[in-house]
Amino acid sequence: MTSLDLLGSGMTSSRTRERMIIRLMEQGISDLNVIDIMRRTPRHIFLDEALAHRAYEDTSLPIGHAQTLSQPYIVARMTEVLLAEGPLNRVLEIGTGSGYQTSILAQLCGQVFSVERIRALQEKARTRLQLLKLHNVRLRHTDGGMGWPEEAGFDGIIACAAPLGIPKALIAQLSEGGRLVIPVGGGEVQDLLLIIRRGDSHETQVLEKVRFVPMLGGVL
Ligand code: SAH
Repeated sequence: MTSLDLLGSGMTSSRTRERMIIRLMEQGISDLNVIDIMRRTPRHIFLDEALAHRAYEDTSLPIGHAQTLSQPYIVARMTEVLLAEGPLNRVLEIGTGSGYQTSILAQLCGQVFSVERIRALQEKARTRLQLLKLHNVRLRHTDGGMGWPEEAGFDGIIACAAPLGIPKALIAQLSEGGRLVIPVGGGEVQDLLLIIRRGDSHETQVLEKVRFVPMLGGVL
């Protein structure tokens, strides 16, 4: 990958990227920091070459191993909700996947911890994050359903795969006032939830319907 690839051309040019940004704003994304970072981040490098030309379309895209890179709107929305009360220092991501969401978080948060159960995806993501010189990210190959207890508490946790129910272990790893953004449900369509820790309790908001891959156990 050369600096020219990072810049993009044709279907990955800055003009195509700008169309994605305009669409995000039309869809209601309003956090200017999120918009600015998504404008500047080359989404096409997070896909295999054969799919790179589709990177700025308003859709999720396959990344292999039956997994997908989330649709730009969903990445923007989840990031915006996570950061709605101000910047966060320590953030945990469950499901590194391509590393795209990780790269957006890394540019907006102090430190990002990201776990992935499929080693091959994690390795590719690592290369891309290095290419973008994002050094405030720690990756771990593990089943992240239980989070990353050794590094808790987190000011924010974002899950990019859907568990059947709300994982209590993740809420326990939030710091006071910490925010968990997570799709929950067993069907093809799930509820995107925002859960905020308040002492020993928490409050839950249902945001919207989403389609995520399931959170699975074990490692590959
Ligand atoms: N944020 C990613 C989305 C990838 S799809 C991106 O921007 O590309 C969701 C990812 O969650 C997949 O890579 C899948 O392997 C991973 N995943 C699913 N269950 C997991 C678990 N229990 N622990 C860690 N990763 C998990």
